[in-house]
Formats: sequence, C-alpha cells, structure tokens
Amino acid sequence: MFLPQIARVALDLPLRRLFDYRVADGEQLSASDIGYRVRVPFGRHEKVGILVELPEASDLPLAQLKPLGDVLRDLPPLPADWFRLAEFCADYYHVPLGQVMLSTVPAGLRAVKQVKARKSRAALPNAAAAAKPPELTGEQQVVLTSIAESGDGFHAYLLHGVTGSGKTEIYLRLIERALADGQQSLLLVPEINLTPQLEARVAARFPAAGLVSLHSELGDAARSRNWRAALTGEARIVLGTRLAIFTPLPELGLIVVDEEHDASFKQQDGIRYSARDLAVLRARQRAIKIVLGSATPSLESWANATTAAGRGRYRLLTLSERAVEGARLPAVQRIDTRLDKPQDGLSSALLRAIEERLARGEQSLLFLNRRGYAPVLACAACGWTSHCHRCAANLVLHLADRRLRCHHCGFEARLPKACPTCGNQDLSAFGRGTQRLEAVLAARFPEARVLRVDRDAASSRKQWEALVARIYSGDADILVGTQMLAKGHDFPKLTLVGAIAPDAALFAADWRAPERLFAQLMQVAGRAGRAEHPGEFLIQTQFPEHPLYTALVGHDFPGFAAELLDERQQAGFPPYAHQAMLRAEAPLMADALGFLKSARHCPAVEGQHAVTFYDPVPMRLARRASFERGQLLVESPARRALQGFLADWLPQLEAIKAPSRLRWHLEVDPLEF
Ligand code: ADP
Ligand code: ZN
Ligand code: ZN
Repeated sequence: MFLPQIARVALDLPLRRLFDYRVADGEQLSASDIGYRVRVPFGRHEKVGILVELPEASDLPLAQLKPLGDVLRDLPPLPADWFRLAEFCADYYHVPLGQVMLSTVPAGLRAVKQVKARKSRAALPNAAAAAKPPELTGEQQVVLTSIAESGDGFHAYLLHGVTGSGKTEIYLRLIERALADGQQSLLLVPEINLTPQLEARVAARFPAAGLVSLHSELGDAARSRNWRAALTGEARIVLGTRLAIFTPLPELGLIVVDEEHDASFKQQDGIRYSARDLAVLRARQRAIKIVLGSATPSLESWANATTAAGRGRYRLLTLSERAVEGARLPAVQRIDTRLDKPQDGLSSALLRAIEERLARGEQSLLFLNRRGYAPVLACAACGWTSHCHRCAANLVLHLADRRLRCHHCGFEARLPKACPTCGNQDLSAFGRGTQRLEAVLAARFPEARVLRVDRDAASSRKQWEALVARIYSGDADILVGTQMLAKGHDFPKLTLVGAIAPDAALFAADWRAPERLFAQLMQVAGRAGRAEHPGEFLIQTQFPEHPLYTALVGHDFPGFAAELLDERQQAGFPPYAHQAMLRAEAPLMADALGFLKSARHCPAVEGQHAVTFYDPVPMRLARRASFERGQLLVESPARRALQGFLADWLPQLEAIKAPSRLRWHLEVDPLEF
C-alpha cells in the first residue's frame, strides 16, 4: 500500500515542538532534502521553515496534516553539523529548536516572499597582492609549533597574550594553514567596532579568500549574501560578532574567538546563548581546533586551562611580551587621591602628565566609563532629583544636546529650566560623566584639541570610523573615552592613559565586577605606548593598596586570576558552580515575585538535592520601562544535575497561570545579576 510521506519542519514559533506536513503525492523527498528551507501553510498564512526530518509516522492523523509547500533548493541544504549545533543550543539553553534555527537564518532567506539575492561579492577575484607576514617572534613560533604538533581532531587552546603580543598574527597563521588545507575559518570578535580594522588586516593578508563579515549592522541583503557565500563555500573566511557562530560552514576547519572574556559574546535577550561556549562545543562536534585569545581570559576559561578542576579542557599557550622589537608594556602607577585630591576629577599628577604629552605633541586618553554630563540633576532647595518615572534609576544629564536621558529604558525629556517641583532655577549636576570631563579639559587646556569618544559621539559605525581616523591622523590631543576606546586600537601617538574613577567597581554588588574592572583597565592600559615611545598608565584611586591595582602594576593576570578563583571556590561561585536564573517582570512586583514563588514550589523542585534554590528577590534594577522585575537563582556544582532539573522544571513553569502582562525567561549561565 502507498502511504503519503511526512515532512517534519522547524518553524520560528515559541513552541517546543516541530510541525508535520504531508508531502504531495507524486513528489518524493529523500534524506538528501533534509536541511532545505520549505514553504508551509500555517494558520491562514504561509511560513518558511526548515525540513529537519522525514519521519515514518506522525502523532497526528494523516488527514489532519496540511500539505507541504515548495522546497526551496536555491541554496544548498543546511549541513548536518549545523543541525547538531542548533539542537545543542536548544537543549542547553532550553529554547525551542525552531526558534534557534530560524532566528539565525538571515531575514531575507526566511521571508515568505523570497527576494532574489544577488551573487555574493565574495566570489570576485581580487587583484591585490597579499600583505607580507612579519617574521615570527620566538614566542609566536613556540605557540604555533605546539598547535601544529597536537595533530588533527578537537583541540581547544587558550591563548593568553598581553596586549600587542601578536595574538592576531597567530590567528592569521592558523587561517593560512586552514586555507591551504581547503578548510573554512570562523573568526569571532566581541564588537562590531572591532571588525573594520581586523577585516582590513585579514583581507590584506588573504585577498583571494572571499572574506565575508557577519554582524548586526549589516543590511538584510548583505547579510543574506554573506551567509549564502559561507554556506556555498565561496567564502573561506568568516569574520563576525556573536551571531556569526550560527553561520553554516560545510568545510569549517578552524574557529578563533578573539577577546574571549568579553561579555558581549553572551546574548542578553531572546535566545540567551554564549557564542564563546557554543564555539567550543561546535569545534568539539566537528573535531577541529579552536583558539580562545585574550590578554585577560575569563575565569571560566582560565580555570579550564590552569586548575585541577579544569582537567586540562583547554591547553594554555602564552605570549608574555610585545611582538614589536623594543616595545614594552606601559608603566603602571597609582595616584593616591587621598593625598593628591582631584580638582574637577583630575589630580595634579595626572594634569602634569597630560601637560608633558601636550608639550611633546603626544596624545593622552582619559578613561571614564560613564556617558553623559552628570549621572543626576538635583534641586538643593526641595530635594527633587531627575528620576526616571519608568525605572528605578536616575535620568542622566546630557548637556551636549540639553536633554535628560534614561540609560535603561531610553526615555528622554528636555532639560528643565527650573525645578519641576519648586521652581528653583539653580539646579545642580552631581557626579561626572564624559561630557563634563571633556568640558573641564577644554577649559583647563584651551590650546588642546579634546575629543570625546563614547556611544553618544559615535552612535553609528560611520561616526566611529571618522573619530578613529581623526585620532590616527593626530588631529586630537586629549581623548576622553568609555570602554569603547579600550579595545583593539593602536594609536601611534598615544603614550598616556589615565583611569579617572575606577574605584566604584571595586565594591560593586555584582561579584563579577572586579574581574571586569581588571580586564577593562588592562585593555585600556594596553593602548599606551609603542617601541619608540614607551607608555604610561595612571590610576586615580583612594585604595592604592588594593590587590587588584597591585596586580595591574605588575601586569600580573595569572596572580590576580588565581586569587579570584580561590575566592570563587571558597564561596562556591562559578566556575565552581553552575547557575541558571529565572526572571519575571510585571507591572506589579507582587505578581513578578508571585510567579517566582510558584516556580519555587513546582513539583520538579521537590526532592532536588543536587540543586540549590535561592529565594525570589527583586532585581538590582528593580523597575525598568514600567515593569517590576524579580529573579530566582538556582545553582548546582554539577552541570548535568542542573540541566536535568531545568528540563523537568520548564514545562511546569509554562503551565503556571500567570497574569496576562507578566513576562518571564530562563537564562542558563547568567553573566549579570
Ligand atoms: P595582539 O592581537 O596580541 O594585540 P597583534 O597581532 O595585533 O597583537 O600585534 C601587535 C603589533 O605587533 C601589530 O602592530 C603587529 O603588526 C605587530 N606584530 C605582530 N607579530 C609581529 C612579529 N612577529 N614581528 C613584528 N611585528 C609583529
Ligand atoms: Zn526644587
Ligand atoms: Zn527609564
């Protein structure tokens, strides 16, 4: 008897299931069709999904199955290892498989009305000659030899190299090797802003490799084109931000994650995945090499590479010196602000150092990780403060365009001429952001060109590139910047970096804050100095003896990391525990906490001895965009126990009757609290 064939399809829906369709009589699909995009009827509309299986039977009666629409064969089918990656992601982060699969396909390729994508630009023969590689340093040679000697198969390396030690050169040599072996390479970077210069460097070295980039600022057409080039194999090198981890690469032979410690590898909304962790998993699934590079590795990676608990998961490779002959790491000095009291945020020692740079025609960079003019505007007469009515936060004063802005929900208002409560016209700005520092410097050094670089001054990639070009050309004397300026750039004339007010992060409630502060300061310090002009890094602090600063003075990441790992182990924090966070938000806090309490008393929780449950509590930013927010942390020393529990818990959470405006989500391995 002839039975109609069934096609199982993944669709972009918030449902933990796949959807069965009936293949039209006369059309016969085979296993080689799995991975094609397909058009299917859904409700009164059509959707584009992905064919994942041709099962023998359906749970539904055949008569209820709708007919499968067109099979889109304009692109090769998505490869099997891409499926395995998506499946892992769906299981591990507890999100629907269809959402993982479809949300990572460029919009143009999952639209019902398919736009005919133009041919990829990657295929164009490029006439340029390849840039000549430098002679390797001894340390670089050792690193490359160890990698070459470990042979084929899965190997994860943690490349710990100080800023400017030539990590990128290592990546380029490995990519060269992969190209020669006929393999594709995937290079992940944390931020879009870091892609242009790296893109230029990779393209200059491999002009014929069809390099493409993938990041969220690309338009739809370009994204579809580049993704297609990766899937067809035209592109041999893909450079991208976290979302690029899901690029289908049938001949993938190498993954590099640069600045692997960076928090932006973690997606903070929608599917909350870590691109770094998925990269390691993907390399393991494909049995290929992966290199995680950083001057300040994450403690998770450091533990994997250096501690007994890490069981040698990663192999540590080290570059301890700058690659350019004669270049040294910057001299780090602490300015004790209890003795040298800052005026308008600037100590006399820092002012003197800036003056010296001005006299020598060199650049200075002042690092202050807070945008705007001042964090709050207040009335001394009645006590009014600029408060966001939608969030538990202050509105930040932006004097450049005379606005008050909420950095959490985006609310903004015109700067009031007088106190809205009592009419007092003498409002005061408290605290200091980059705009205020810029103004102070402009007044103090009227002859100097002061340039502010933060998300307000560089909101688009174009503006950012223009600012960077100005700095390179020497058309700026003093830079005021947030962490935007901390990474990746080597400005030839920059010889002084000053950290204005780093102390707050030392005592922040977030226990990950010191790890981040150290990484940030190390990065920004790394901007200072070249071979012919040694650099200097000055830290203004009230706590000069704090071990974090002492470690910075000695450029001692290993010492600092060992100490923090000790603390984490004693406290039972990650990486010695595995965590998941359930968050709920609703117009009323009672509803948000109520949901979390119900979650806390689900049957799955009963008898869970391997998992620790914390009490539901309001989040640190307890109200955002008019929603009250609560969280419930669960934790286990064993990843598997936690995962098993989450799998049981989730369907029960979905069954909880919650008020209609309540939203909740689960985050595995949360980074922020
Ligand atoms: P990192 O990625 O560790 O910050 P890079 O690879 O960007 O380091 O190298 C820093 C600088 O040193 C760059 O200007 C680079 O061109 C240069 N460089 C790297 N390797 C060598 C080498 N073997 N010989 C000379 N210069 C090098
Ligand atoms: Zn007032
Ligand atoms: Zn707000």
